[in-house]
Amino acid sequence: MTKSILIVGAGPTGLATALELARRGIFARIIDKGAGPTPVEESRALAVNLRTLDIFEGCGVSKILRELGNSITGMEMFHTGKRITGLKFSEHPRTGTEILVVPQGTTERVLIAKLDEFGIQPEWNVALNALEKIDTHPLATLAHPDGQQEQAAFDIVIGCDGAHSITRKHAGIGFDGEQLESVWGLADVHYKSPIKADQVIINFISTGAFGMIPIDLHTYRYVSNQQDVTSLIRNKEDVDHVGWQSTFKISFRLVERFSTGNIYLAGDAAHIHSPAGGRGMNLGIEDGAWLAWLIETNETERYSDERLKIARQVLKETHMQTRQITKSGTMVQILRRIIPPLLFKFSFIRRKAIHVLTAQDTPTPPWLN
Ligand SMILES: Cc1cc2nc3c(=O)[nH]c(=O)nc-3n(C[C@H](O)[C@H](O)[C@H](O)COP(=O)(O)OP(=O)(O)OC[C@H]3O[C@@H](n4cnc5c(N)ncnc54)[C@H](O)[C@@H]3O)c2cc1C
Repeated sequence: MTKSILIVGAGPTGLATALELARRGIFARIIDKGAGPTPVEESRALAVNLRTLDIFEGCGVSKILRELGNSITGMEMFHTGKRITGLKFSEHPRTGTEILVVPQGTTERVLIAKLDEFGIQPEWNVALNALEKIDTHPLATLAHPDGQQEQAAFDIVIGCDGAHSITRKHAGIGFDGEQLESVWGLADVHYKSPIKADQVIINFISTGAFGMIPIDLHTYRYVSNQQDVTSLIRNKEDVDHVGWQSTFKISFRLVERFSTGNIYLAGDAAHIHSPAGGRGMNLGIEDGAWLAWLIETNETERYSDERLKIARQVLKETHMQTRQITKSGTMVQILRRIIPPLLFKFSFIRRKAIHVLTAQDTPTPPWLN
């Protein structure tokens, strides 16, 4: 029987959910209180990992992202300016193990264009204001830009409405966790000369670390636990200009459950964590795809437990990685210089690290097996 579905939020999670449903022949309505997708210059979530590419093979989006994105094939680690070790993703037994770098706004536009091929367009400037009867036929109150308040009933409502999710609040689902004190900085730095665009660079410094993620042949995203990230810029004389900049605080929060009644949560509405490892957006896309598959197979009762287990694992890993980055002190400095090169002497440890970095460490979505 055809189900009526409302997706709240047309960020990467909501768009991916709508698309994964559509390619299975299930057509949802998708609304967003914003005026349109993330501006292209706000690069935000950059990493599209191998799991996401596997998921998007089904709808043809991976091919497009591979054409648009910058392929990362390794990582270099430096300690106070001196190279200490590195990883080559080609060492992983799976051929084609890579991470793609694509600005979030571009990813969203690719998903919107693909959805359009199924005849689905996000309804921009339409906000979910209230949600009732969550256990039976959820009744949504939607505010339109002309002031009209629409009431509509659905079989299923999927909250992809980000960290401050109103869907989650109306569903009464707890979202416990913590916020770290430190303020992080990020900046997209455009160089005149070409950069080494296939390697992510991690630099350990006395106050923590900073990463340099190549967005394209001339642009690095600098990100650090140091707020004033522009003071860390390398080869300043070759800088053309500094583009998008932002600061943020890191929170680790996870829902107590991913669903209640006929309300389901996905993406930042269900989990937020550190950008270390670049997994945030990818995990949300996987939530949405997983739910689409369970809706098709009529097994939605599995969703909450299965996704909780995976999200817990990713939160634990990113928490650990963040602690490694933010620690300071003389002893930490010495250990940072010694431990990574020592560990990466062993090929099984290098492969394990690549496995985690490229997000092949959580269970493969059952429909891809
Ligand atoms: C400045 C910044 C930098 C970031 N950098 C990184 C990074 O480097 N790496 C990384 O992995 N992640 C990064 N992130 C996080 C990443 O952007 C998110 O993990 C990702 O966008 C989550 O996608 P989502 O679709 O779940 O939620 P969102 O992208 O938050 O989308 C939620 C959508 O729901 C809509 N919405 C909210 N409430 C309502 C409502 N009541 N009715 C209708 N619509 C509603 C919003 O308008 C929004 O479009 C960054 C985020 C920010 C803000």
